[in-house]
Amino acid sequence: MGTKRCVVCGAPVRDSLCEACRSAISHDHGFISTMDFVDEVVIMGTYTGLLKEMVLAFKFKDKTYYKEPLADLMVFTLFQSGLKRDWQAITYVPMTARDERQRGYNQSRLLAEAISELTGLPLYHGLTKAVPTKAQVDLSAAERQGNLHGAFRAALPPKKLLLVDDVLTTGATIEEVAKTLKAQGTKKVTALLAATPHV
Ligand SMILES: [Zn+2]
Repeated sequence: MGTKRCVVCGAPVRDSLCEACRSAISHDHGFISTMDFVDEVVIMGTYTGLLKEMVLAFKFKDKTYYKEPLADLMVFTLFQSGLKRDWQAITYVPMTARDERQRGYNQSRLLAEAISELTGLPLYHGLTKAVPTKAQVDLSAAERQGNLHGAFRAALPPKKLLLVDDVLTTGATIEEVAKTLKAQGTKKVTALLAATPHV
């Protein structure tokens, strides 16, 4: 066994992150709000600095091992939030099979898997995205909601779910996922996100 290294800067560490990087990653947000279909929203930090760099590299540059430090801080924020921990399972925003092949992985699923390991909550894999949609980033807020309409399917979802994703911009994606889940019998959806550009 060699010395373990900080996944960000390479300093020798016990966990996946050194203290300097851990404190440089924005994780004091703990933002909680409600939406139409998502009952609770917990966001780890502001989409800036090292957190933004990590999320971008995690999503677009194959740095899949960033799932560990991100999941670690997300769970920390979730537990700090004081919300009732009665989720039966954890889930993620699905991608179409084609999009996932293109990227090679689904970053939302990787985060959910890491958070499942940390919390012991089982994964719910019943969400699918059947309809290809335009990249949300190219659209206005109103277009984002319409773009996703009816894009997701949920098979026999649990009553209480923790929904994991990387970034919250307008919230249209998690709203559409939660709407789909609730149409199939889910009663509570708590969304847990790594970052948001809104302060
Ligand atoms: Zn470091």
